[in-house]
Amino acid sequence: MPHTVPLIAGDGRAAEALSHVRVLYTDLDGTLVARGGGLLADAEGAPSLVVAEAIIELRKAGLAVVPISGRGRQQLREVTELLGWDGYIAEAGGIIVHGTGAESETRIDHGEWPPGTLSEGVSPFEAINEVGAAEALMEAFPGRIEQYAPWQLEREVSLLLRGCLDLAEGQAVLDGLPLLLDLVDNGMLRSHGTLTCRDEQPHAFHVVPKGVSKKRAIALDLKWRGLTRENAAAIGDSATDLEMADAVSVMVLVHNAFGSTGVLAGLERTPRENVWRTAGERGEGWAEFARTWLRATREARRHP
Ligand SMILES: [Mg+2]
Repeated sequence: MPHTVPLIAGDGRAAEALSHVRVLYTDLDGTLVARGGGLLADAEGAPSLVVAEAIIELRKAGLAVVPISGRGRQQLREVTELLGWDGYIAEAGGIIVHGTGAESETRIDHGEWPPGTLSEGVSPFEAINEVGAAEALMEAFPGRIEQYAPWQLEREVSLLLRGCLDLAEGQAVLDGLPLLLDLVDNGMLRSHGTLTCRDEQPHAFHVVPKGVSKKRAIALDLKWRGLTRENAAAIGDSATDLEMADAVSVMVLVHNAFGSTGVLAGLERTPRENVWRTAGERGEGWAEFARTWLRATREARRHP
């Protein structure tokens, strides 16, 4: 399957598209960070500057990098500040923030919820808990879904779960609840926690207001920045990341994405012309993207 998706390095069509790209939306887990969550490491977690150097080169060259992740607001704010970026998208697309300090501005996306869905002072996260979304899934799939501790706490828009279940079957359970909700597959996890489905790789799942997604958040963010789809690229490793392709001109999958059944199903279901892959996994693939963007923009400057 990876071979039906072209490599980004050396692809002329990708280079032309990249020369117009001014902002990169990047997933973190499974994409930017190494196994174990480190940044100063190669894909396997051994000490390495490959990712750090790529981040610095992109900053010097003026590419805006926006982390877009299932992680919560505090985690994203810290990563963004630490790396010298100036905005982020948290909770799988539910929270869009420009700036990191006291001057920062936040927009919360309620997706397709009609006005009046939320009672005064209730967050989407609280509303999703009030209808018992996690309990309904756990009852339908005993041992196959659980809270993804400790990251399920202090959330504002989305419920974070860990599980091994069919996305469509999980969605059918949510469709029976009195609130419009989506189940989102945000990629493979290494640890089963207390799940009993040891035959399958667990995934991170989010329960979000219907329509909330990374793809939709990118479209909202580009509008906010006064940029267009042509100015944007995205990189990721999960099924929900692949859908970012519809909001950007260049979508890149790091090599390890092809180990995800959700990604393979997405590629099969919707053939897209603007998806490329890297040869490297995780951060090494990320650095490969960075080098390819730098080369494409330099070339475009030399031969306008
Ligand atoms: Mg990921």
